[in-house]
Parts: sequence; C-alpha cells; structure tokens
Amino acid sequence: MTMQSSVLRLADVHVHYGKFHAVHGVTIQARSGEITSIIGANGAGKSSTLKAIIGQAGTVSGSIRLGSEELAGRTTREVIRKGIALVPEGRWLFPTLSVEENLSIGTQVGRPGGPTMSEIFDWFPVLGERRSQAARELSGGQQQMVAIGRALLTNPKFLLCDEISLGLAPIVVNQLYELFPRICERGIGVVVVEQDIARSLAVASRFYCFLEGRVTLTGDPNSVSRESVVKHYFGSRA
Ligand code: ATP
Repeated sequence: MTMQSSVLRLADVHVHYGKFHAVHGVTIQARSGEITSIIGANGAGKSSTLKAIIGQAGTVSGSIRLGSEELAGRTTREVIRKGIALVPEGRWLFPTLSVEENLSIGTQVGRPGGPTMSEIFDWFPVLGERRSQAARELSGGQQQMVAIGRALLTNPKFLLCDEISLGLAPIVVNQLYELFPRICERGIGVVVVEQDIARSLAVASRFYCFLEGRVTLTGDPNSVSRESVVKHYFGSRA
C-alpha cells in the first residue's frame, strides 16, 4: 500500500475544561511515516492535546490541520473519516464483546481501503487465536493489541497512541513498540504520548516535551542532551 506523505499540524491550540485552561497554545507537527513523541509529566496536557485532535477535549481553539484540511470543530466521526485514529489511554474496549467484534468497530467507523481483519491477525497472531473470546478475558497486553488493531482498521493516516505502555510488563511494551516501525513503513504517521522519556525518545524522529500545558522543548532526540530533556520535563522541580 502506498500513501501520499502528509503532515498533521497543530498551531496555537488551546484546550479549556470550563474555566480550567489545560493546554496553552501548543504548536506541533507530525509527518507521515515517522514517529513523533510527546513526553511530559502527569497533567502536562498530553492527553488533552490528542483528544483535541480527535474532537474529544473540552473547548478547543486554534488550528488542527491534516494537509490542507482543517479538523478543528469537526466531530470525532468526521476526524476518523479524514484519517486520524486514537488508541485511547485505558483502551476503551467493549469488555463483553469478542475480539473480532471489537476490531470490526474500526472497520465500520473508518475510511474505506484499510487493512483487512486477516492482516491484523497476521500482525497480532494471538488475536487471531483468540478472536471469539470476550475482550475482558485477554491479558492487558493483548487488550492493547485489540485497541491498536481497531485503530489500524480505520485506515488511518495518523495513529495517535496515548500511554499504551501504562500498566504493562516491559517485555509486552517492547513487543508493542516493535510494531511502530512496521506501521510507519505503511506510510502511517505515529504520534506517541508517553511518560517514559527513554522509551519514547528511542523511537522518535522528533519529540515535544510538555510542561503545564506548554511545549517547553522540541527537536530531534539525537541532538538534544538527556539533561536538557529532564530539565524541561520537570521544569523548576528538576
Ligand atoms: P496524564 O499523564 O495524567 O494523562 P496528561 O499530560 O495527559 O496527563 P491531561 O490528561 O491532558 O494531561 O490533563 C491536563 C490537565 O487538564 C490536568 O490538570 C487535568 O486534571 C485536566 N483535565 C483533563 N481532562 C479534564 C476534564 N475532562 N475535565 C477537567 N479537567 C480535565
């Protein structure tokens, strides 16, 4: 499958929850076929930024463009149809539905022309073996695979992953991270939100460090010192 390269650009994005100002004018960009990481401590506004893209944050202002198309103000369904998929923190599977039923939701809400269910089972053989089982019977790592598979079945141009490693054993997290280069090879851009600095920077072409709703540092992970990242991650607490 070949895909035209595209860019996802956020410019001066703000998120308010009522009077609470969670994201303060964030400007970031992600490219197709690359991994872009967003790091930051608890409450830094990482999830709110991903949710803003998908139309699920509080009140959002600013520009969110996929190529030349403005996504801000669209419904979640429309944004998914334009080619953005979110793997949400906590996975949000339907626990009593089977693996296959959970996965098929991606096909139903997404863009036509994406991978097939059998391709997802090639990527995650254990899901093929357990396709008829209820999602709640799977391990945490397998449930995360279902959430990623469901997102891939929407045929995304960009895959947004919110803390997919949370609560999982390191070996399982390694398996999930090994998938990212394969996803990028298909021309999909991956945006990874993580609290784990080392893991996130190891895979990314570009990173954004968030602190209290603002981007405090950005660059190519190879050209920034670890000390600088830690300082900007913790701010005055470092
Ligand atoms: P975490 O790692 O804890 O998910 P984060 O960097 O993803 O952190 P957000 O979840 O975006 O941060 O939260 C940013 C701020 O917005 C926090 O202070 C949080 O309490 C607040 N917030 C998030 N969602 C809501 C909401 N639905 N209503 C009110 N405040 C919210």
